[in-house]
Amino acid sequence: MAFCRIPALCRISRHSEDSAIDKRVAIVTGASRGIGRAIAERLARDGRHVVLVARSAEGLAAVKTAIDAAGGSCEVRPCDIGDGAALNALVEAVAETHGRLDILVNNAGITRDTLLLRMTDEQWDEVITVNLRSVFVACRAAIRPMMRGRFGRIINLGSVSGITGNAGQANYAASKAALIGFTKTIAKEMGAKGITANVIAPGFIETDMTEVLGEAVKAAVLPNIPVRRLGKPEEIASAVAYLSSDEAGYLTAQTIAVDGGLAS
Ligand code: NAP
Repeated sequence: MAFCRIPALCRISRHSEDSAIDKRVAIVTGASRGIGRAIAERLARDGRHVVLVARSAEGLAAVKTAIDAAGGSCEVRPCDIGDGAALNALVEAVAETHGRLDILVNNAGITRDTLLLRMTDEQWDEVITVNLRSVFVACRAAIRPMMRGRFGRIINLGSVSGITGNAGQANYAASKAALIGFTKTIAKEMGAKGITANVIAPGFIETDMTEVLGEAVKAAVLPNIPVRRLGKPEEIASAVAYLSSDEAGYLTAQTIAVDGGLAS
């Protein structure tokens, strides 16, 4: 801080610097669009410093521009989370740069839908690698800095498909169901260290992922959704905002379906 002659101004200036240092640091994967973008924007609005991760540098740059314009704090770190070594290095670099890592939102995910009879080894492996293996890698790298800070909030994005199963999604449902057991295990291993771990299982949310399903599929699913509409990315983001907050310290090892009642 530059030398300051006016004590009151000095205090204000020092306070704002301290606030910057004290900001909780959050990594959000899949932050370039859809649910991840909404989560990143919400966490930034709530005063977190958000590390934006996805493959598309351009997509992330657009999100950064929006967060900057709204007065938030963020940085862009493009990464293919299917590359375990790159993802591990990214998490370690974030913790090293900021001296802390408080919140990890494993949101990025993909589908490669087809019936089991036609599913290739590649379709299975790709989905398991991106949706499940990456979460293992990121969590393993994140817990050390979280333990050092005696605080951590891990939120993994599952799906109602991982709870109920869904025809055409054997690979996807398996990856999302596995996240539930994985997350409960982290919660048990890390609970005494101030680290919570939960799954949010969205139902049908309006993003690129559901856009490809077409109007006929969406119309067919609507009668099964008690609130009779698709969800919005912001509605997932508000659940993440709560789970990642300081006040959610007694909420762990849970799977919360944010699905308009679909899986109930
Ligand atoms: P989306 O619109 O398809 O966006 C996926 C995000 O993941 C993008 O930011 C994408 O960015 C990123 N991504 C994909 N592969 C990646 C990779 N290899 N490395 C790094 N980033 C990668 O998906 P969404 O609908 O927002 O879904 C977000 C999460 O919610 C997913 O885990 C999904 O399974 C889950 N979910 C969604 C719904 C729904 O109805 N939308 C329902 C249940 C669960 P790049 O392409 O730039 O890499």
